[in-house]
Amino acid sequence: MSPKSQAARGHQVGDYRGVWGSRTHLGKRKDLRNDPARYAGRGDDVKAVLWDFGGVITTSPFDAFAEYERRSGLEPGFIRALNATNPDSNAWALLERGEITLDEFAPLFEAEAARAGGTLSAPEVLSALDGEIRPEMVEALRRCHERLRTGLLTNNFASMEATSKDSVAEHFDVVIESSKVGLRKPEAAFYQLACDRLGVSPCEAVFLDDLGINLKPARAMGMATIKVSDPATAIAELEALVGFELR
Ligand SMILES: [Mg+2]
Repeated sequence: MSPKSQAARGHQVGDYRGVWGSRTHLGKRKDLRNDPARYAGRGDDVKAVLWDFGGVITTSPFDAFAEYERRSGLEPGFIRALNATNPDSNAWALLERGEITLDEFAPLFEAEAARAGGTLSAPEVLSALDGEIRPEMVEALRRCHERLRTGLLTNNFASMEATSKDSVAEHFDVVIESSKVGLRKPEAAFYQLACDRLGVSPCEAVFLDDLGINLKPARAMGMATIKVSDPATAIAELEALVGFELR
């Protein structure tokens, strides 16, 4: 079955349900980044590079979550665990698909926290999402944009429109925002929409994200994937895939 027909079937979001915030999955999954076979047959075939925003172009929101958890006396990983509970239908998912407003989100999210045994402030958690731009990633993006198609694939919410992403928007041919299209990572249709708008097939694309769960469907569709933790490592991996210097 082609990736396109998979997406058309609507599908498979459930395949990934429950994995979003699994620290075991994220922390212990086999690291494929040094597997040369993974890069075989790429090079000239790459026509597009797709980028996540938070934790890729910017510093990791998870560091900011951890800091908020420390400040607020919450268990380490509490917010990530909260978001991993009913990950396709919880308050966070509804907000990112634009199905609820920020005002509707706050009481729902805080109630989910209370049910999980914690007390938090939704606005404070959301403000932790504002990471710092990574200049070296912007430079890599700029160089990719000189030769290849580029797309931003971001799970966001409407009030994030006037954020730092605007400062890098010029380097993207297309910007796909969950809050505008009503789809979000890791829904396969979200990735297919990006490829369609860029005029490439998934097997001609590289995708960078800081979450393994978001990379899994992209890889299943045929994309080369890079899990971003250390920016320098990620840029070196991207250079190996596109075949030109990015710094
Ligand atoms: Mg991210």
